[in-house]
Amino acid sequence: MRSRKAGPLAGLALLALALVLVAAGSFTGASGKPTYLNGVYEGSAPSHGGELKVLVTVKNGKIASVTVNASDSAGISDAAIAKIPAAIVKAQSASVDAVAGATETSEAIKTAVAKALEGATLYPVAKRIKTDVVVVGGGNAGLAAAVEAANAGAKVILVEKMAFLGGNSIRAGGAYNAVDPARQSKQGIEDSIDKHFQQTFEGGDKKADPALVRTLVEGAPEGLAWLESMGMKFDDKVFTVLGALWPRSHAPIEPVGTGFIKTLSSAAKAKGATIMLETRADQIIREDGKVTGVVVIDAKGTRIRIDASRGVVLATGGFAANKEMRQAYDARITPNLGTTNHPGALGEGVVMAQKIGAALVGMEYIQMLPLGDPKTGALEGWVGFNVEDYIYVNKDGKRFVSEAERRDVMTQALLKQRDQYMFVICDAHSMPTPESKNSFNETAASLVKKGSAFSADTIEELALKIGVDPVALRATIDEYNRGVETKQDAFGKKLLGNTIDKAPFYASPRVPTVHHTMGGVRINTAAEVLDAKGAVIPGLYAAGEVTGGIHGTNRLGGNALADTIVFGRIAGKNAAAKK
Ligand code: ADP
Repeated sequence: MRSRKAGPLAGLALLALALVLVAAGSFTGASGKPTYLNGVYEGSAPSHGGELKVLVTVKNGKIASVTVNASDSAGISDAAIAKIPAAIVKAQSASVDAVAGATETSEAIKTAVAKALEGATLYPVAKRIKTDVVVVGGGNAGLAAAVEAANAGAKVILVEKMAFLGGNSIRAGGAYNAVDPARQSKQGIEDSIDKHFQQTFEGGDKKADPALVRTLVEGAPEGLAWLESMGMKFDDKVFTVLGALWPRSHAPIEPVGTGFIKTLSSAAKAKGATIMLETRADQIIREDGKVTGVVVIDAKGTRIRIDASRGVVLATGGFAANKEMRQAYDARITPNLGTTNHPGALGEGVVMAQKIGAALVGMEYIQMLPLGDPKTGALEGWVGFNVEDYIYVNKDGKRFVSEAERRDVMTQALLKQRDQYMFVICDAHSMPTPESKNSFNETAASLVKKGSAFSADTIEELALKIGVDPVALRATIDEYNRGVETKQDAFGKKLLGNTIDKAPFYASPRVPTVHHTMGGVRINTAAEVLDAKGAVIPGLYAAGEVTGGIHGTNRLGGNALADTIVFGRIAGKNAAAKK
């Protein structure tokens, strides 16, 4: 995706989204009279004299004072500024009557106070429990954080809203990028931390925070060794996952992301972390500036306050499955586009963090992949494994982009093809027998059986099966093969492997699909969450897809799982450290 600022329409959409979320909040069992969390809160709202600002002070759980800073015309607004703050303090609520004759200023003060109190309003809870560290989200980042926090001696509670662990991590292709001289030298691959840095930073159009990129690439090999030390197994050979730009992707032996989740959840449990499933975090609690816990709603609908004496780790993943939210940040991501994500990738972590003052970064950078299932948007179901050994052709049987390009470049090229539709084509070099598997552990035979792939003994026969002109497809394959032999690809593909000439030949239809949200809460290299002024929000850490600033405009394939492990570990360790 290209960089793009959210325009005014996106602003409106965001407002609508905020209203939807506020409305949704009222169904979460939030009832009874609220109290307020101590602190000083800023809020603002447009008024006739420009942006009107308020400062709300909460002491002993009560609104103690409201001060207003407005450029509204004196005379008209005086009465509102004099009366509304006192009325709000008296009512302990922003819902008070407007002052006659100064309605606009009155409404602006009420709106600004309501906004200021958004993250400070605490509804009654049925139960209160205490721990050292709370981790929100049970994907890779959350589980890695839980393991490290427990390793550091902290009592850990991890809450996961779904009935199972794994999030997007378990359904990811599984590729983990890390510089790995032991494996790479055997394959004659030259690599370095600097090269991984450069490709990640430039592959995201230099929009990432270089310090975070450095932390990612330096921590990735250690993260890999850490997983292996806990018994996780990876293939001896590295490969180049789609959009990785270099052969440093490690394929787990167990299918997709299951190896990560099994390894991490066993370790977390073995170290004594408590895992609460079907338990959704509804609010991050920030008191007197410091994050001290969360409010969760368990499977029975009970609201529970969990106090975390050392820290809270936010690891709730991204928002690619939230159609309104993703379109609000990038209007081009229309609701008709499918997603590879699990249905729980709704961005609640971002919204919760924003309410207590976290800064967001890169929210408009939303990644699409060219390899979605035409019916579901899922990533599963396509033939091929190594970027080096397959090609993409459009409905006219023609290539249109290098298959080793950045993900955004490939998807943008696909969006320009007829019906925004293509086929991945490979041969027996990729899938030598009917039992050969793609990276989703699906066999060639099963893909053909379920209609996700077509196979044939000749290119011409394959073309007829997929409704493409056989002469055109033959010419495309011949030209590609000549390019492989002469190392001169017509589309500039540098990662060239085998020629496509060994029957059986395979084709899988594919369309663009929404895959990863690069934006999220702003963190520093210690995985501490930052506010709009760049200051650390004490007690709050974040890791994984919920964060922004690590991948810039476009994430390299295979960098996400490395990101979750590297920053999950940092967040867990730092959250557990005694303050
Ligand atoms: P990452 O790759 O960053 O670890 P994942 O998508 O793998 O992200 O995992 C995030 C997990 O967080 C998912 O399992 C998701 O269901 C969970 N989650 C999201 N929002 C909440 C929430 N409000 N409370 C608890 N768990 C949540």
